[in-house]
Amino acid sequence: MSTGFFKVPTPINEPVKSYSPGSSERKEVLDTYKKMIKKTIEIPMYINGKDVKSDETNSISPPHDHKNIVGKYYLANESHVDQAISTALEAKESWENMSWENRAAIFLKAAELIAGPYRSKINAATMIAQSKTVHQAEIDAACEFIDFLRFNVQYVTDIYKNQPDSDSDAWNRVEYRPLEGFVYAVTPFNFTAIAGNLAASMAMLGNVVVWKPSDSQVYSAKIIIDVFKEAGLPDGVINAVYGDPEMISNKVLESSAFAGLHFTGSTTVFNSFWKKIGSNISNYKTYPKIVGETGGKDFILAHKSADPKEVSTAITRGAYEFQGQKCSAASRGYISKSIWNEVKENVIEDLKSISMGSPEDLSNFVTAVIHESSFDKIARYIDDAKADSKVKVVAGGSYDKSKGYFVEPTLLLVEDPNYVSMREEIFGPVMTVYVYDDKDFDKTLNLIDTSTKYALTGAVLAKDRNVIEKVTKALRNSAGNFYVNDKPTGAVVGRQPFGGARSSGTNDKAGSMLNLLRWVSPRLIKETFVTPKDYRYPFLAKD
Ligand code: NAD
Repeated sequence: MSTGFFKVPTPINEPVKSYSPGSSERKEVLDTYKKMIKKTIEIPMYINGKDVKSDETNSISPPHDHKNIVGKYYLANESHVDQAISTALEAKESWENMSWENRAAIFLKAAELIAGPYRSKINAATMIAQSKTVHQAEIDAACEFIDFLRFNVQYVTDIYKNQPDSDSDAWNRVEYRPLEGFVYAVTPFNFTAIAGNLAASMAMLGNVVVWKPSDSQVYSAKIIIDVFKEAGLPDGVINAVYGDPEMISNKVLESSAFAGLHFTGSTTVFNSFWKKIGSNISNYKTYPKIVGETGGKDFILAHKSADPKEVSTAITRGAYEFQGQKCSAASRGYISKSIWNEVKENVIEDLKSISMGSPEDLSNFVTAVIHESSFDKIARYIDDAKADSKVKVVAGGSYDKSKGYFVEPTLLLVEDPNYVSMREEIFGPVMTVYVYDDKDFDKTLNLIDTSTKYALTGAVLAKDRNVIEKVTKALRNSAGNFYVNDKPTGAVVGRQPFGGARSSGTNDKAGSMLNLLRWVSPRLIKETFVTPKDYRYPFLAKD
């Protein structure tokens, strides 16, 4: 029973720790990393609040040291998926009826556990198994995840507060019901925060969840589960199953109680989900909600009025941090001929100063790409570029997978603005640049808009305000997150809601109220105080 309309704590963005030499956080994360990497841990599935093992396992190795086994995780068969679904449905009634203040408190507590006692663990796990530098781990696994939890609690409160007008005759109330059935979270390898948020955001609104993390993120997924458990999330509300993504997803999508998909990952996989849901549509009790944030081919456009040093910094940070494995990473550049030489020299200079290796050595800016198939795919694009007389490798171009999956940050220069690496998502540290003649600026805008199917992020660098206005209008549909005089990465929850349209997703803006609204099915209740007892309206009376 509610006994008050409670205010939630005002959310603030978690401050990013520096990890500079001598800082206590640097010592703590490195100690934790060293302890964790020496151990081999077992990661069972998590169903109905219990650790569940099976007969089959996969091993976990750091991408930067792939012969070193740091853990193994248990793989689901069909019966585990059935258990995850039925257990979620059993938990549904008591979870959706729990008062908002009690549901909210669980996620607020989870945020504080990550900010405090779990911070070094979740960061170290992300460094070890997703090969993030400490800064990349901190802004993702710690800060972004904490922000998602804190801000979403505020947004849910705002949603619940949003009520229609009423008058003295009748009281109109909107009840924001969770979806009828269970929901399915399918998450990518590249952000620990996204993995946790896709499940948590739906659960916050009273939904019960089956969660399938990426095989390459199970190690930090285990910490997320430990946090939810310690925060008091009731058994069965979020259930994690690992393993064959197709088998698990087919089983989930067969269920008549499937009510929603919260997906982040590649466009191809999301398209396959959409098709399967379409072909099963008559089996479902309710139309499922489908949210997918998918691939990108994110651009940097530099006008002749831009500062070349600002452009080169946007490229170095935007294209190569986390080895270009952010969905928002810059991977195609359109640079004015008047400033290209200076931009090029600056990027070459930047890349010379960058060191690559294990995230345990904090001086490394670049670490390894996620796994062998990703490494091989990136290497193929680089080899094809080297073999093409119309493509020049301006910087980088080497790769080595003997110890870890290391790919040198690579800058390609193309003559053809429609060359394959200007169009396709490579998801690695490869940036391709097309240098345009200043007189062709308008044509270049058209190229940016039309040469890929994606529309996730993009940036314009220019000093000329008329140019900024023109580009902002011309590229209105080319990116869901558009940056002026900045790199196209680094969206912060509560500041830059994130997502793109076209083949980049349903653009439901993670980290905002818009996304949360997808996970409710509102019911309007109109209560009339003095109920009419006569069907006749006054106009029916005889003159
Ligand atoms: P992915 O598509 O390979 O995997 C995503 C999830 O789908 C994983 O859990 C995976 O196991 C599952 N999956 C894979 N094949 C499947 C299948 N056949 N059936 C059902 N499920 C399947 O993506 P990834 O490599 O983990 O992540 C990188 C991709 O994610 C990139 O394309 C990137 O742009 C995108 N991404 C987008 C955003 C965004 O906000 N737009 C954010 C992060 C990542």
